[in-house]
Amino acid sequence: MNKKITVLPGDGIGPEVVQSAVEVLDTIAKHFDHQFTYTYAKLGGVAIDEENTPLPEATVKACKESDGVLLGAVGGPKWDTLPGHLRPEKGLLGIRKQLNLFANLRPVTAHESLTDSSTLKQEVINGVDLMIVRELTGGLYFGDPSERCQKDGEEAAVDTLLYKRSEIERIVKQAFELAKVRRQKVTSVDKANVLESSRLWREVAEEIGTQYPDIELEHMLVDNAAMQLIRNPKQFDVVVTENMFGDILSDEASMLTGSLGMLPSASIGSGGPGLYEPIHGSAPDIAGQNKANPLATIASVAMMLKYSFGMVKEAEIIEEAISHVLNAGHRTGDISKQGDAILSTTEMTEKVVDAIDAIVTVKN
Ligand code: NAD
Repeated sequence: MNKKITVLPGDGIGPEVVQSAVEVLDTIAKHFDHQFTYTYAKLGGVAIDEENTPLPEATVKACKESDGVLLGAVGGPKWDTLPGHLRPEKGLLGIRKQLNLFANLRPVTAHESLTDSSTLKQEVINGVDLMIVRELTGGLYFGDPSERCQKDGEEAAVDTLLYKRSEIERIVKQAFELAKVRRQKVTSVDKANVLESSRLWREVAEEIGTQYPDIELEHMLVDNAAMQLIRNPKQFDVVVTENMFGDILSDEASMLTGSLGMLPSASIGSGGPGLYEPIHGSAPDIAGQNKANPLATIASVAMMLKYSFGMVKEAEIIEEAISHVLNAGHRTGDISKQGDAILSTTEMTEKVVDAIDAIVTVKN
């Protein structure tokens, strides 16, 4: 297969981890006779520096013309004091909107060999395998008005939480479709005891649920969900929720695995290219030092192969290679314990590439 991939390395450790993921893609291409063509484009701080906008037109065009988009991370202290429209995050929100990426998928899988790097007890973590499906283009982060104002004669600010029925329908459907090929359970998270938007969310989730009689649907209030994720995360299969709740819960869930450096994500829409990125940020504290854990970005390209290109076998080989290097005890700094030998980004990447080579050789 020939696939066009737009690569947005971004800022901080973004270029380092993206380079690792591209090496892994090249390894897969070599073994399976695929051709991946990469177009590099600018997003975030690097785009602000060079083009005075976090999301240049050329970047949007390149993304729209590709089959899949790979993103590192954006942001850093250098751009923290710029006005709102010139913030790196604007580029990220903008490209999600431009590509109409309404669903963010974040799998959280606990690797057994890593459970001691989580702050939670091993018996709570072992066997965790859940998927958070976060609505990405609606809700509080996009509602209008979102501005400073005056209220009762003093300074105030307002943000707006608005959801249309169609926006809820498509994300909830996405969750049910995923649950079909997983463990057949959807937990819809809302705040229906307080928010009108949540009451509509719950109503729509119930309606969609009737189209999937074999899948269990439960509703959970977001405060309870935050607690249950720590208390008993194994109860969850697919968790679907609105934008802000998903933002918070998915970061909380990421800590089940012990490190942000382990978790991939996929943002998908209807028809166009999906966007694949690690959930961590640009980690300015370790940028440029060849210390970043590349596994989240490598796992993100596995998701790209699976969800955008239908290359399920290839994706599973990458996932198997990641498990293999972890089981063999290879560690970057963020997932190491005292006494472990610490690998650099490039060394960890080599281990994954070697593992892919070995797995493919055995399977052939
Ligand atoms: P961060 O995820 O960048 O870093 C948090 C901590 O985790 C740091 O100690 C960092 O060194 C460590 N870390 C993160 N990824 C790692 C990896 N792959 N390997 C090893 N260690 C890793 O979060 P932050 O410090 O809150 O944010 C830094 C910048 O990133 C900010 O400008 C923020 O706005 C931006 N950010 C971007 C995204 C994105 O691009 N999607 C997401 C979150 C934060």
